[in-house]
Amino acid sequence: MDGLSVDGNHIVIAGGGMVGLSLALLLHEELPGEPIITVVEGRALPAPGGAPSDYHPSFDARSTALSYSTATLYRELGLWTPLLPGLAPINQIHVSRRGRFGSSLLSSEEQGWDALGWVVENPCLGRTLLAAAHECPRITLRCPDRVTDATPAGPGVRVQLTDEELDADLLVIADGADSSLRSKLGFLTQRKSYGQSALIANLAFEKDHGGCAYERFTATGPLALLPLPPSDQAAHRMALVWTLEPAEAAAMEIADDNAFSRALIDAFGYRLGRVERVGDRHSYPLALTEAVEQVRRGCVVLGNAAHALHPVAGQGFNLALRDAAALSQTLVKAVPEGTAVGDTHLLAGYSRDRQRDQAQTIAASDGLPRLFMVNDPLLSLGRDLALSGMDMFPLLRYEFVQQAAGMAALEERHG
Ligand SMILES: Cc1cc2nc3c(=O)[nH]c(=O)nc-3n(C[C@H](O)[C@H](O)[C@H](O)COP(=O)(O)OP(=O)(O)OC[C@H]3O[C@@H](n4cnc5c(N)ncnc54)[C@H](O)[C@@H]3O)c2cc1C
Repeated sequence: MDGLSVDGNHIVIAGGGMVGLSLALLLHEELPGEPIITVVEGRALPAPGGAPSDYHPSFDARSTALSYSTATLYRELGLWTPLLPGLAPINQIHVSRRGRFGSSLLSSEEQGWDALGWVVENPCLGRTLLAAAHECPRITLRCPDRVTDATPAGPGVRVQLTDEELDADLLVIADGADSSLRSKLGFLTQRKSYGQSALIANLAFEKDHGGCAYERFTATGPLALLPLPPSDQAAHRMALVWTLEPAEAAAMEIADDNAFSRALIDAFGYRLGRVERVGDRHSYPLALTEAVEQVRRGCVVLGNAAHALHPVAGQGFNLALRDAAALSQTLVKAVPEGTAVGDTHLLAGYSRDRQRDQAQTIAASDGLPRLFMVNDPLLSLGRDLALSGMDMFPLLRYEFVQQAAGMAALEERHG
């Protein structure tokens, strides 16, 4: 492969995180016979069957809420059964605001669904994706290695790795929010800092969560607690994502377990009883990063490199997976017609098709925390009424849940 073309199409994916690996599996499944797919990952990935604590930047101590659209795609890829033991279904979502009267309960029963979403710990998702990739004969994993540059070459791209070059028909840039490749190639990007950090930790509570996820809006920002499956050490586990001022997040990251638990109970209340165990804590600075230009001849920007969102609504990965599915479908139509997979018009069409879902999801994840942090009394009344109103009007709740589940966008793909 070095510096030469392979028979058929060759797709190089820069970044073997959650999005890069998922795209590789989608392409392998949906384009039988070809292409050859090379995933280049900068950090050593956990060995197949490695210890659950083998963290990696994409598969670290975080947990991810998988939407209905993601579940549908992973079912199609045959990943759902291996994922099942590590999944906790979300049967209810309780939305509230600290110190205010409004609250709302969304339930899967009301939607007629088996769950509103599922929560998985990132290392578990990573192990499942990696194990599946190792089984695919046309996927090659090159790690640790880095894509350092790319230049147009004929109808495709010459991809520069640390010590050698590859010829690709398409380069997918999926190297994360701080994508060095996106900058190197001069893709126009805009970034807005929220001036906040997300503190994450896995916790065990005294009481069972009963499949309920909590979204609580506090003075500093949203606090989410997502249900996790029981482990050998603890039964009632939950994943915390707590938006705080950066200094407060840094203090909470190193606070002793008692001080941390007291502060958490002060913000969240005693719904789940005492905090019995506190896992590793990490914090992430929050920003909205968007690649204004996401395609070029022979190149597509995907995942956090294309859009990194506020984690409030748990949408970043789910949106990226819908992008990946749409890209795969675009190539499924193009390859039999003999259209080059890096064709400018083809990729521009993909980008146009994704604009609406991306714009709606980004607007929702950007607007929600701001709405709940404004201290205008009229706005406060409005959002409290909106929360209690959601409890009164099933249709409004249905719309909210459909948007969060990403179903409309996925139906467009199938329709
Ligand atoms: C606190 C928090 C909670 C979240 N919760 C949710 C949630 O519940 N639901 C949801 O949908 N989303 C959630 N998200 C968003 C989700 O984590 C991201 O959408 C997802 O991680 C993006 O994956 P990625 O593969 O695009 O990028 P990354 O995970 O950043 O992976 C990029 C990969 O590229 C590699 N790399 C970097 N440079 C190079 C290079 N030059 N060459 C080769 N490889 C390279 C890196 O090593 C890394 O493995 C959350 C985010 C945060 C911060």
